[in-house]
Parts: sequence; structure tokens; C-alpha cells
Amino acid sequence: MVTGGAGFLGSHLCERLLERGDEVLCIDNYYTGRRYNIQGLLKNPNFEAIRHDITHPLYVEVDEIYNLACPASPVHYQFDPVQTLKTSVHGAINVLGLAKRVKARIFQASTSEVYGDPTVHPQPESYWGNVNPIGYRSCYDEGKRAAETLFMDYHRQHGVRVKIARIFNTYGPRMHPNDGRVVSNFIMQALRGEPITVFGQGQQSRSFCFVDDLVRAFMKIMDTEDDFLGPVNIGNPNEFTIRELAEIIIELTGSKSDIIEMPLPPDDPKQRQPDISLAREKLGWEPTMQLREGLKPTIDYFLKIVNEEI
Ligand code: NAD
Ligand code: UDP
Ligand code: UDP
Repeated sequence: MVTGGAGFLGSHLCERLLERGDEVLCIDNYYTGRRYNIQGLLKNPNFEAIRHDITHPLYVEVDEIYNLACPASPVHYQFDPVQTLKTSVHGAINVLGLAKRVKARIFQASTSEVYGDPTVHPQPESYWGNVNPIGYRSCYDEGKRAAETLFMDYHRQHGVRVKIARIFNTYGPRMHPNDGRVVSNFIMQALRGEPITVFGQGQQSRSFCFVDDLVRAFMKIMDTEDDFLGPVNIGNPNEFTIRELAEIIIELTGSKSDIIEMPLPPDDPKQRQPDISLAREKLGWEPTMQLREGLKPTIDYFLKIVNEEI
């Protein structure tokens, strides 16, 4: 079962699981996901999709659960912050209750946002974070932190077999074109010849992982022994400033767009880079796709959207 299976990451995960021969049940309320993302999978007899909001209980029989349901971009998760928190917290309680009843392994898509605006760089899993509990990003950050707590407590109290991944910024085909994230914004702006909107001076940094690398790690994590719970960082440690990203996208798209500066949103983390030593050691995993390489198929996907082929 993949919650959020019609989203960006979830749809790629469903596809990989089906390729491996698994039967996949996709659960999604299409809040930020799109039917287009799973359209190609619907003809596969091993694939089934249910429209369902995970803040409500769900009774199904499954043996592995990937919990990805949650809006992920700041624009989407701040649109209805109460629903974002409900999805992380009530949603986690429901999927954990389900995992407990059917004795399923359960994977949580947590986030680098649990580190907030980090004071330790790069961020190892042992760092407890620097999160504002009452700011605009809190519905997401604190929701994901509470979900991690619930996962650990269901494990300690009820013996549920849990796995937690802390995902760093990821990009690739099937990102939502209007989700306001930096990669989708910059590529759409570049392809339309609109100004590239760098927030602040663009000196803040992020480390971008290509979706295929990330999904490979999810499946490796699920397949680890029961005593491996995580949390484990998953991301690409190659760090870029936002201005560098803008310049690379202009170059790769051959765009004539200018770069303009816009106000920096509140609580915007200044830097972010995963320490992936634990993933290397425990999973034998590291990303293989570098930014320029991964941006090419991503740009091709957005080009289809701009040309209204999707
Ligand atoms: P996305 O918005 O494309 O996917 C989320 C999916 O969850 C969507 O299909 C949405 O419709 C669904 N959803 C939301 N609320 C739901 C609810 N209450 N019930 C059922 N379905 C619901 O985002 P994504 O980038 O694919 O992110 C997937 C997961 O990975 C999220 O949990 C996100 O927090 C986490 N994550 C993503 C990134 C990233 O860079 N993409 C980074 C860190 C963590
Ligand atoms: N739950 C669910 N599907 C199941 C089992 C449980 O959706 O197959 C939900 C149910 O709503 C419950 C929650 O998970 O409230 C937590 O379950 P748990 O067993 O921990 O708690 P309880 O049932 O005692 O509230
Ligand atoms: N950003 C930007 N211009 C945009 C969108 C985002 O400069 O049009 C910046 C944003 O301020 C942040 C970084 O890019 O510093 C990454 O933003 P995103 O929303 O993709 O992810 P997150 O902040 O959650 O890492």
C-alpha cells in the first residue's frame, strides 16, 4: 500500500514496485496528486487505486505500507495548514493502527524539514533540529516531527515494524508544475521566458536528489531487517546555492529569462545538505544521478506541460 501514491514521489514508487512484481494499492485523495501520474499504471492488473483521505480510518489487508500522503511544497502545505497537520498526525495514527492490526511493515516519508533552519551542517540523523513551533512552516515541520514520534512509540509500545526516512529536496518528472517549489518554478519560468524568481539574494543552499535515486532508497529501506528503524537521511549531498540552480536551469533550457530577486519567505532555511553516511553504511546506497543529468528529463517533462501535451 502506498499512501500519496498519485503524487510525485508516490507514483514513481508505485511504478518501481509493480516492475518488481509487487501488487500495489494506491491510496490518495488527489489533494496535490494527479490522476495523470498513475494513468499508465491503471491497466496493470497488479495495480489498484482508491480515493481516500488518510485522516479517516481505512480497513484493508496489506503487508507493507509506504506512508507518503502529505502535501510537500510550502505553497501547498500552507494553503490549508490544519489539514496538513491532520494528514501528518491523524493520518499517521490511522496507518499505524492499520499496520498494528495486520502486522505490516510501515515506512514513513519524513523530511529534512525536521531539522528546521539547521545550526549543524551537514545534518546527521543525530541532530535534533531548530524548528519554529508556531511559524508558517510549522504545520509541516511539526506534523512530520510528531509523525516520527508516533512511529517510534507504536514501535516501542506495540512492536510495529517501522522505518523512517528523512527525505531531502527531490526533483524529477511528475513534480506538480504549480507547486511553487524551486525546481518546478525555475524550469517553468525558464521555458516560458519569464523572469526567474530568486528569493532573497539566492545565497541559501539546497541539495537536490533525482527521484529515481530516492525511490531506490525507499525500497532498500523497506527491505532492511526489522531492527533497522532509522531515521535515515536520503538525499544527494551535492549542494548548490539557489542562484547557481537558476543559472544552471537557464543554461540547460537555453532560456533568455533574467534572474530577479523577490523577498525571502519567513523561516526559510539558509542551508541544507544531508549527511548520508548512515545510508551508505546500512543500505549500501548513494545517489548516482547528478544535478545537470537529472535536470534533463525533468526539463523534458515540463516542456510537455508548457506545450500542453500533458
Ligand atoms: P506530492 O504533493 O506530489 O504527493 C503527496 C500525495 O499525497 C499527493 O498525491 C496528495 O494528493 C496525497 N495526499 C495529501 N494529503 C492526503 C490525505 N490526507 N489523504 C490521502 N492522500 C493525501 O508530494 P511528494 O513530493 O510526492 O511528497 C511525498 C512525500 O514525501 C510527502 O510525505 C512529503 O512530505 C515527503 N517529502 C518529499 C520531499 C520532496 O522533495 N519531494 C522532501 C521531503 C519529504
Ligand atoms: N485503524 C485503521 N485501520 C485499521 C486499524 C486501525 O484505520 O485497520 C485506525 C483506527 O481509526 C484507530 C487508529 O487506526 O483509531 C489507531 O489504531 P489503534 O489500534 O492504535 O488505536 P485504537 O483502535 O485503540 O484507537
Ligand atoms: N525559492 C526561490 N524561488 C522560488 C521558489 C523557491 O528562490 O521561486 C527558494 C526558497 O526560498 C528556498 C529554496 O528555493 O530557499 C527551496 O525552496 P522549495 O520551496 O523548493 O523547498 P524548501 O524550502 O522546502 O527546501
